[in-house]
Amino acid sequence: MDFSSFCPHCQCFQEYTLPAFEEKACQSCKNPLFPHASDKFKESFHFNQCPHCGAAHLYRQKDFNRKLGLILLILGIGMSFFTYGISLLLVTVFDWFLYKRVGEVGCCYQCKSQFRNSPEVEKLPQFDLELHDYYQNLS
Ligand SMILES: [Zn+2]
Ligand SMILES: [Zn+2]
Repeated sequence: MDFSSFCPHCQCFQEYTLPAFEEKACQSCKNPLFPHASDKFKESFHFNQCPHCGAAHLYRQKDFNRKLGLILLILGIGMSFFTYGISLLLVTVFDWFLYKRVGEVGCCYQCKSQFRNSPEVEKLPQFDLELHDYYQNLS
């Protein structure tokens, strides 16, 4: 499982690859990073709650770099004048190819932690706007 998030105590960015669960401490403030890891999470990375902040809801989405997609699109439009639109077509195809290839990433609604490369991520529900708003209003 690949894990990336901001430390809840000092907001320092953390990134780990953990083949099996282990307790990790923040690199800068030394506070535990998974204070809410459930037994199931420790066993098999099952998400019944976020191991980081304890929120009960997580979702999955395509691990697609939207910024990169946007930059490509702008490039394609900018160059289409010189390439008679061919660059736009190329960018669209490339975009679609990227989108098809990327895997899923699991995210926490509350702390925005991200989880990758675990079969448990595929079992998470899709993004839900209502839940998202609910957590936005909490903070
Ligand atoms: Zn920290
Ligand atoms: Zn969380």
